Amino acid sequence: MRNFNVKAILLKKYKVSDSDLSCRILTKEFGKISVWVRNARTHSKKSSINDKLDFFAIYEVGLYRNNYNRKNKVTNIKLESPNLKIRASIDKFEDASFLISFVDRITSDETGSDYFAQVIKILELLNEGKYGLAVEIICFTFFKLAGYDFIFDECVSCRLKLDRKISKVKFSASCGGIICNNCVENTFSIDGEVLEFFKLLKILEISQLLCMADSDLERKLCIQSMKIFKGKLRVMIEKILLALDMT
Ligand SMILES: [Zn+2]
Repeated sequence: MRNFNVKAILLKKYKVSDSDLSCRILTKEFGKISVWVRNARTHSKKSSINDKLDFFAIYEVGLYRNNYNRKNKVTNIKLESPNLKIRASIDKFEDASFLISFVDRITSDETGSDYFAQVIKILELLNEGKYGLAVEIICFTFFKLAGYDFIFDECVSCRLKLDRKISKVKFSASCGGIICNNCVENTFSIDGEVLEFFKLLKILEISQLLCMADSDLERKLCIQSMKIFKGKLRVMIEKILLALDMT
């Protein structure tokens, strides 16, 4: 049993009793862990831990960790960065909520510490007013980190090259990429413009993509509406999570 100070963000919280919370947090040190927060909901000023514990903010958390049964108790919470501006816009709020829920779904217990720095970065970008495709780009980067490096330039089944612009193609998350019409099975369709997004993701550095202005992204991808395009990527991410049983 040991005491630690860790950097953390909240992924999920459940009320266990009038005074206790059970939470899942993502930490730099241990990845995703479940923690118990005692006296979190009492009204006395002394123990207002719950008032401080909120989504999108970055905390320094005091942990009492039992390595034997992996039980973690929160002993102290210090707010490092509230990222309050995320809540000022419904679009940014949705982006941040999607990201938090995605990270919770793609990670299992004691994994995901690799994701921590980038999740923090995206929350900061959203807080600074960045909209764009930062969340969607990071979701596919995390799929890759989790071992799902989807293939978009050839059929994953027969290796037939796809080297022309097309309006639609079949995609299978479980097979790991796009599938030609001869090899269709467990697939769903994705648009040509979504495919262009993955080409961009392949040729450009993530840091380049993240600082690209929305108008440049729209031009590069030949898309009319960022919002509609984001919707298409979101649907695809959801379908992949479902196909991979990450519910
Ligand atoms: Zn094929």
